[in-house]
Amino acid sequence: MKVIERGHGTERVAIVGGIHGDEPAGERIVNRLADRIDDDAEKTIQLIIANEPALKRGERYTSVDLNRSFPGDLEGETYETVLAARLKRLLEGCDAVLALHTSRSAPPPFAVYSSLTESVRRTVTALPVEYALDSGTLRDTTLDSVVPHAVSFETGRQGSEEAVEVGFEGALSFLRAHGAVTDMDPSFTETTVVEGQREVPKGDGTPHVYYNNFEPLPKGAIFAEDDTYTHRVEHDDLVPVLASEHGYENLFGVYATVKQTLDPPS
Ligand SMILES: [Zn+2]
Repeated sequence: MKVIERGHGTERVAIVGGIHGDEPAGERIVNRLADRIDDDAEKTIQLIIANEPALKRGERYTSVDLNRSFPGDLEGETYETVLAARLKRLLEGCDAVLALHTSRSAPPPFAVYSSLTESVRRTVTALPVEYALDSGTLRDTTLDSVVPHAVSFETGRQGSEEAVEVGFEGALSFLRAHGAVTDMDPSFTETTVVEGQREVPKGDGTPHVYYNNFEPLPKGAIFAEDDTYTHRVEHDDLVPVLASEHGYENLFGVYATVKQTLDPPS
């Protein structure tokens, strides 16, 4: 794990890239931020590259998925189990945390959080996203489910230059929103929150996904199918998130419902 510090002060924010070794955008964004941010920033800014061995190999992880390994264990048996515990400890006490990701699922960029604090509201409404996924009911082994005030930011398609640009600009918006970078005023927009309902399993055979992220799913339509499953939509208020044919070994994505609109901080 590499940690670059900028700025000063007891208040602290962090940006984490390279949680997944097959998502090089995060590391590039963190390095660009390190070049861009002056050392006289108003708060302590920690710029973190998490899983260096996995990035070096260009693989998602070395032994287990880091973002399924939280809270981790300092005495754990695998590299990522120990790394999760080290990263969680490093981020303790941060006022705001942004974790950078890219995915094989379709655009647009979106945010993910598990617990809505005022810091999380500030982050989500500052990011260049129309949608946020409240994944509080889905998993408890991700970074944003164990680190207070953490938001994951899916910046775009894995390997694309656009994902680097969106992630870099979004990271600057995050830093401005929390007063860590003051080159210009922060700006906020309202954001639609969808709540994760359940994961949609993938089986054997050629996978097909027929809808994009956040596209309303008509009741009765087939969302995705393969030789094992035909997922016909049973309710008319569902939207897919993380929808992809090849992004995950055994998931087509997640069904979500529109939950609320997040207003900018007052
Ligand atoms: Zn990722």
